[in-house]
This record gives sequence, C-alpha cells and structure tokens, in this order.
Amino acid sequence: MILITNTTIATGQAVLFDAAIAIEGKRIAAIGPSAEILARFPGAERVDGTGRAVFPGLANIHTHFVMTLARGVFEDLSPPHKPPFSGGLSPIPLPPLTAQEQAVMCQLGALEAIRSGTTAVLEDATHIENYAQQMVDTGLRMVLAERSWDRVGTSIGDPGPFLRDAAVGADGISRTRKLHAKWNGADEGRIQVGVSAWGPDMCSPELLRELRALQQELDTISTIHLNQIWGEVAAVQAHHNMLPTEYLESVGFLHDRMVGAHCRCMTNIEEKILGKHRVNVAFNSAIAARRGLSPRVCELEAAGCNIGMGSDNMSEDMVEVMRTGLFMERVRREDGRNPAPEEALRWASRNGYQAMGVRDGGWLTEGNLADLIMFRTDRAHLVPFLRPVSVFVHQGQAADIDHVMVDGKWLMREGRMLTMDEAAVVREADAISSRAWSRLFHANPHLAIPEGFRPLPPEEAGAIAAVALHDVGAGPTPPTA
Ligand SMILES: [Zn+2]
Repeated sequence: MILITNTTIATGQAVLFDAAIAIEGKRIAAIGPSAEILARFPGAERVDGTGRAVFPGLANIHTHFVMTLARGVFEDLSPPHKPPFSGGLSPIPLPPLTAQEQAVMCQLGALEAIRSGTTAVLEDATHIENYAQQMVDTGLRMVLAERSWDRVGTSIGDPGPFLRDAAVGADGISRTRKLHAKWNGADEGRIQVGVSAWGPDMCSPELLRELRALQQELDTISTIHLNQIWGEVAAVQAHHNMLPTEYLESVGFLHDRMVGAHCRCMTNIEEKILGKHRVNVAFNSAIAARRGLSPRVCELEAAGCNIGMGSDNMSEDMVEVMRTGLFMERVRREDGRNPAPEEALRWASRNGYQAMGVRDGGWLTEGNLADLIMFRTDRAHLVPFLRPVSVFVHQGQAADIDHVMVDGKWLMREGRMLTMDEAAVVREADAISSRAWSRLFHANPHLAIPEGFRPLPPEEAGAIAAVALHDVGAGPTPPTA
C-alpha cells in the first residue's frame, strides 16, 4: 500500500486540495481528504506530496517511437498540400537501422514519453517484435499495433497507380498474429497487441476486410492513418472515386474500437461518418501544427467521435501535445475560451485510455488503475497554483514531472528513471542517430542534406549496415506516416 499525502489531486473530474490517494497493488484503493485517508491506512508507505500535484497519466494514442531518429530532420520537410503530389511524408527516407539500433531509438522515445507524463502508448510500427521486450521493460502501458499494407512501390499520399502485392499484406497479417500470440496480455494485461492498417491509400479493400476480421477475431483494437495529407485524399479518389473515410466505411472498417489518426484533410460529410461509427480520433496536434494542417476537433467531437491525443513523429512530449491542441483549436475556432483546459486534459488522458480499450484508467477514482503522474508546483512558471488544471495545461512543462506510476509501480521517482538506464540510452541513441544519418547521406549523394546539418566523416559514420534486419527507410516500406 502506498499513500501520496498532503497534495493537490486533479482526478480528471474534480480538483481536490489537501488530499491523499491510496494505492494497493495496481489499483487506487481510496482518494479523498488527506487526514481521512491517513487515518484509514495508518501502516501504509507514505509519499509526501507537499509542493506537488497528482494528475492522471497521459495517453499517447498515436506514435512511432523509432521516429525519434528523424528529430531535427523531418520537422521541416512536410509534403505539399496541393498537386503535384508524390508518395511519402518526407523527400528523405529514414536511414536503415539494425534491429538492435531500432530498439535503442524506441527506448529513447519511451524515455521522453515517461518524462513528459505519459503512462499509456499506442505504438504503430513495423517489426515490433524487434523491440517488444524492451517496450515491456519500460513499464509503460502499451498497445503494440503491428502495421499491414499491400500497396507496393510507393508510400502514403501518391495518386499514382495502386500496385497490389497480396504477399506483402499476408506478411503483415502474419506478423500481427505472431506478435499477438507472444505478447498480448503480457504483464497481467499491461501490454495489448492491436491491428494496424497503414492508410486508406496503402491498403486494398480485400486487405482492409481481412484486417477488420482479424481485429474481431483477436478481440482487440485497430488503427489507421486517416485523412492525414491531401495527397492521400487525392490517391483514394483516384483509386476508388471516394473520399478516404467513405472508402473505409464502404469496406466496413469503421467502428468504436478503431483509432483514426489525424482526420484533418476531411469534409464535414466524413466527420459525420466517423461520428456515426463512434470512431476514436487521435488529435496529433504538434505534428499537425508543424505540417500547417488542423483537424476540426470541435466538429468531430460534436459528430460523436471520441477525441484522444497523439504525438506521432519526432517528439513524445505529451505536455506539449496537450497544450498545442488547446492552442490550435482556439485559433481555429477564433475562440479565446474554448476548448477549456479541462477538455484538453480529458482528451490527453481519459479519452485516450478509452480509445486504447482501457475503460478503468486515465482518470483517478477508487478501483481504477493506478496510472498517475506527480509534478512540482513550487516553480516560477506554476505559481500561483490557483487553478491546477488550467495552470498545468497552459504553463506546465515536461520537466516539472518527477514521478510517474503505472499499475501501481513507479517508473520514475523523484526525477530518476527506474526502468531504464537513462544516460546509457541517451548516449547510445545519439551515437546511433549520428552514424545512421551520416551513412545515409554518404551512400546517397543525390539527397539534399538539410540546412545546418553536417554528417560525420565517412570513416566515423561507417558503411551502411550490412546486417540491417529492419530496413525502415529504403524501398517501399518507409513507415514515416
Ligand atoms: Zn503516424
């Protein structure tokens, strides 16, 4: 039994001052006035929450941890919003990595996620088996969604011909089944395995129907990149004479256990279709802002969608995602009051848990999963701490967070990471990234090196790894969406 006492608690429904929370095993045993909880559980281990606040843990429902590799490179290389369109989300591919290197980059992503208060993650990627063990070891609650597609020779956003290779689709389904058999339900259900379709323009109707059947058979959630960029919309129109969301509806892919990521290059008709099927939407605000695109979150929510939040690429900072979402929606609506910070917090916590199929997490109440964060409030940018939710959503920083708990276990305590060797991961990830990008540019002199980036000399970068087990960059499978 752990008691966090003498603190401020934002439960996700209310704010409690001079409060305490009792955690037994993986669940919240009690929450209420500090004196009362202390009297009820006199023998429990105490953690003094003075000068701190306890919030629900944040849920990132759309990310690709390996994309930390593209930090500082892809942020400024978005595809065009008008024709001519070409495939891919960046003119430069991700460099190839070995399975081991991929695992380190994913650990880096998990570190940043935990440091920014994330307790639950929907990871969408290819060959997750390469790093599933490392992800389980982080202590994060996760849905691992192995990606499938069957369009070959190009990437997302290409209106050119749809070249189908059924074997590529079958391989994705096979990888998903294997990952599910090995990891679904691991660590008493903390790990789930989900189904992922890359995007509407990368999947044939046959594959989408198969993936829907697989999701039902495995009794899990599914996800897809949806109405992400205008090239994707043009591609689906070229292939099916329909809009992306209409196409998914026509093959039965929309339902309330599906997470549609992005949903921004979209008509109101499509918003209503998503709402009718109670689809969960990942509002990936920071990457959306970087791309100069925004979903119409207010309209999606009004139509019936459940709005969660995701970081997508290059950053795992959910504090930034939450605040950027609030800012973007206010600018888009030209409304200086709405959404309220309480709504943004709900998107980033409880709604995200719901989208991941975890109904008893993401807000703090007796009996729920003990997934929570604690942060310092005695900071120059947080004082006065009069309206805790508003102050944290508007002014909080990831660096304020110094405790993170999932399933009643500390992943970070007093600012120290307990589930990973933080210094080693940061050092290795830095070295891996520098070498991988440098090798890519040395091996492909036609690629334009981004301004301000200087590759390592060839003798330090080494050759393109001959042992690359997972080629995340070259060929038809760059998972840069
Ligand atoms: Zn994505």
